[in-house]
Amino acid sequence: MLDCIIIGGGVAAVSAALTLQANGKTFEILGGSSFGAKIKKAEMINNYPGLCKVSGEQFFNALKSQLDEMQIEVKPQKATGVYAMKGKFLVTAEGDLTIEGKTVILCTGVESVKPIAGEEEFLGRGVSYCATCDGMLYKDKTIAVLCTTKSLEHEIEYLAKIAKKVYLIPLYKGVEIDGENIEKIVKMPERIEGGLKANAVVFKADKNGEQRTVSVDGVFMLKESVSPAALCGGLQTEKGHIVVKRDQSTNLKGLFAAGDCTGKPYQYAKAIGEGNIAAHSVVEYLAGK
Ligand SMILES: Cc1cc2nc3c(=O)[nH]c(=O)nc-3n(C[C@H](O)[C@H](O)[C@H](O)COP(=O)(O)OP(=O)(O)OC[C@H]3O[C@@H](n4cnc5c(N)ncnc54)[C@H](O)[C@@H]3O)c2cc1C
Repeated sequence: MLDCIIIGGGVAAVSAALTLQANGKTFEILGGSSFGAKIKKAEMINNYPGLCKVSGEQFFNALKSQLDEMQIEVKPQKATGVYAMKGKFLVTAEGDLTIEGKTVILCTGVESVKPIAGEEEFLGRGVSYCATCDGMLYKDKTIAVLCTTKSLEHEIEYLAKIAKKVYLIPLYKGVEIDGENIEKIVKMPERIEGGLKANAVVFKADKNGEQRTVSVDGVFMLKESVSPAALCGGLQTEKGHIVVKRDQSTNLKGLFAAGDCTGKPYQYAKAIGEGNIAAHSVVEYLAGK
């Protein structure tokens, strides 16, 4: 069993990994398919000690070289669930991956798109965050796919090959997906409705007050980040952020969190510092055990 599973693909995860490696701990990083996406977004970084007039792209390349040098791999799978069991954690991820760890550090960042009404209520009951995990459940059925980023278009393609009909709701610019069974709806969804299972997506009313509703068998929410509460049942959160103590521990024993997912300020310095503290806390926790 691994000493630690790091979930996330940003600077907090990199920082935690470097500290765990320096302390001789075994770990894996599940970073999702868009490792470093947010790091690269910064046009110019001027507020990180020692870096001046460095672009996000240059910063990412430096981090990537450092990881390569240390032989640390960031796995491209997105974690889909974290389950606290007696003295250990089970983490599930895309591609039917299951990993066991004595501890977990969540470094999942923040999602700029807030959950829509009904999303968390119907999670696991017709709402899914994972195309490859749940796609086959909707073979020859009608689904809605809400996607917040171009980097996940391959997951839309995957779902369109399985489903009979896809209502694609893109919340990003430059959509390049087309297909006979794909109908794009460029409107803001208001809520997901249903009974025992989700069965419809209702859109915000247009200027004329008309409100479109589409009937579906399931809804996929394709996002870079999943809300921490949805990822890990029982985790204490406040206004979407994970509640942590100064040692980055959460209300779940053995589970730590670092970076933007624990709250503001959303900055590299805080995320890197917290990743480092979380890893040291893991080392102490394991020694205590
Ligand atoms: C345009 C822009 C410019 C910025 N400029 C600056 C700046 O100049 N200076 C500064 O200090 N800060 C800046 N920031 C903020 C900075 O980018 C963030 O504070 C920092 O990246 C947070 O790091 P993080 O590791 O906590 O999260 P993130 O960098 O958001 O990384 C989290 C990663 O985890 C992945 N992930 C989420 N859920 C899962 C899952 N279930 N399984 C696997 N992976 C998952 C996400 O896809 C994401 O890649 C900027 C941000 C933006 C958007």
